[in-house]
Amino acid sequence: MTLSADHLAIRDSVRAFAKNEVEPIASELDNKGAEIPMPLIKKMAELGYFGLIFSPDYGGSGLDTLSMALVAEELSAAWLSVGSVMTRMIITASLVEKNGTDEQKKRFLPGLCSGEILAAAAFTEPDAGSDAAGIKTRAVKNGDHYVLHGEKTWCTFANRAHLLCTTVKTDPSVEKHKGMSILLVPKRVGDEFNPPALSGGAIPTIGYKGMNSYALAFDGYECPAENLLGGVPGRGFYQLMSTYEIARVQTAARAVGVAQAAFEAARRYAKERTQFGHPIGDFQVIRHKLAHMATQIEAARQLTHHAARMKDTGKRCDVEAGMAKAFAAEMAEEVTSEALQIFGGYGYSREFPAQRYWRDARVFRIFEGTSEIQYEVIAKRIME
Ligand SMILES: Cc1cc2nc3c(=O)[nH]c(=O)nc-3n(C[C@H](O)[C@H](O)[C@H](O)COP(=O)(O)OP(=O)(O)OC[C@H]3O[C@@H](n4cnc5c(N)ncnc54)[C@H](O)[C@@H]3O)c2cc1C
Repeated sequence: MTLSADHLAIRDSVRAFAKNEVEPIASELDNKGAEIPMPLIKKMAELGYFGLIFSPDYGGSGLDTLSMALVAEELSAAWLSVGSVMTRMIITASLVEKNGTDEQKKRFLPGLCSGEILAAAAFTEPDAGSDAAGIKTRAVKNGDHYVLHGEKTWCTFANRAHLLCTTVKTDPSVEKHKGMSILLVPKRVGDEFNPPALSGGAIPTIGYKGMNSYALAFDGYECPAENLLGGVPGRGFYQLMSTYEIARVQTAARAVGVAQAAFEAARRYAKERTQFGHPIGDFQVIRHKLAHMATQIEAARQLTHHAARMKDTGKRCDVEAGMAKAFAAEMAEEVTSEALQIFGGYGYSREFPAQRYWRDARVFRIFEGTSEIQYEVIAKRIME
């Protein structure tokens, strides 16, 4: 399906921003392992990228899921990490908009939409990744606070966040899905965290630079009880599941963006690089590689847009979002690898961005629900 004039305008404006503000710095910062500059994050916030899909009543832009997918694709084409900053605010604000009390919506949503409150998602633990309800981090109510003990891992952007959207066990005596809650845990910004109550260390990664992912340890860290999402304990697992569709559409769009960028780079190179007296793009094997890549990207894009449109109708779209996410993740890995191949030896060099796309693309099959978990979600429904 083609995009409307409004959607095209959104896409083009983000594309211009990404081209001017993100692309020129991406490879250098990735090579240095440096973080995304804070002024760039502020600009994205000012442009409304964090509040795109939330109600104007709370400072959002009230746009549809497809608009969000377009923004995520364009930013990620310039640099995956930049396209991934918004993911944290989208997950947290979706949780609050859907499940928060009126008071929590008023207190958190405007800041999450404007970027005054930056958030990180602290769901994964050393022994609980795919099994999101298998967490052990304990939150015990003590007067007007919850006291947290336990470990989280892979909490991306934790250092820069003001708020850790954290899954906790509030009642270990009941069935695991029922004893889980979500706390919106305030913290001070910076790499120091708040030891010994809250400590954190960055995990070295092969890609997805620009944002660090942290192993975190809570040891008596206090969170105001009024920050329990929805005000009633035991609902955390179901609250978390309510954001899976939007997060998976957003992640599929990020994968399409990275693959598109790798494809564009390879296409340009195939026209410029000459061997045996011909541009390598004249060789049928290279032309067909590019044609296959373009086809795969478009298929992933259409699956993503289909899931986004379905989300906007209010219909259940876990299967569609899962298909888009799983397909786009695998497509991105394959397309970025083929792009690197078209660059030959230069593809393996840090001086060309092909290797960055490839390193970045590898994460798509892992986060926001692994491919294996997506296929399990799809299988359950198609086997009903
Ligand atoms: C760069 C990066 C950033 C991340 N950022 C965040 C973040 O900001 N916040 C956050 O909370 N988490 C984050 N994560 C964590 C991510 O969501 C988890 O890594 C992911 O959910 C998988 O969990 P796991 O690593 O524990 O793997 P496991 O769940 O241990 O899985 C290991 C393998 O077993 C497979 N498997 C597991 N269960 C099943 C099953 N039932 N059927 C078939 N196969 C199965 C998996 O697919 C996988 O291949 C990030 C991860 C990475 C790599």
